[in-house]
Amino acid sequence: MNCPKCKIENLREIQINGVKVDRCKYCGGLWFDKDELKLTRDHRDKNLSLLEFDLWEDESKLMVSGKSVDCPRDGKPLFKIKYGNTNVMIDICLDCHGIWLDREELDKIILELKEKVNSETIPEHLNNLGKEIVELLANPGHADVELKHIAIVMKLIEYRIISKHPKIAEIISVLPD
Ligand SMILES: [Zn+2]
Ligand SMILES: [Zn+2]
Repeated sequence: MNCPKCKIENLREIQINGVKVDRCKYCGGLWFDKDELKLTRDHRDKNLSLLEFDLWEDESKLMVSGKSVDCPRDGKPLFKIKYGNTNVMIDICLDCHGIWLDREELDKIILELKEKVNSETIPEHLNNLGKEIVELLANPGHADVELKHIAIVMKLIEYRIISKHPKIAEIISVLPD
């Protein structure tokens, strides 16, 4: 598949802790298909159910700010979705429900997770998540740490975005062309 940003065939499928994503080896952007989602398993994921991370949770905070690059799957325009005052922008395809995440957006999400983890009393096993996020931010090139967190963040995003998709579709449907 072509990277929607770089416009050349750069996307490579990688498997991270059971999450399949396509990653562009140049810009570091991530694409995931709806078919790759495994929501039933996500529901049982301890990391996710305990992490009350307010990202795309509150439907009233969802904002669509127009069209973006084209979907690598079907060529339809992706729509930019923003959530509240988080400044995290993701691109979604209304047709295939795929999600595109720029590398910078992933970094922002990880930063927010880090703040969340630092600011609250969290279960013991999530303390490790906090430490690993700190390590990831300090060593962005560290592949193992990076991939582990991408997996956690991806699962969270997949779960939230897919569960909010009907609302996002509704917002997009009333946008002027
Ligand atoms: Zn790229
Ligand atoms: Zn699509």
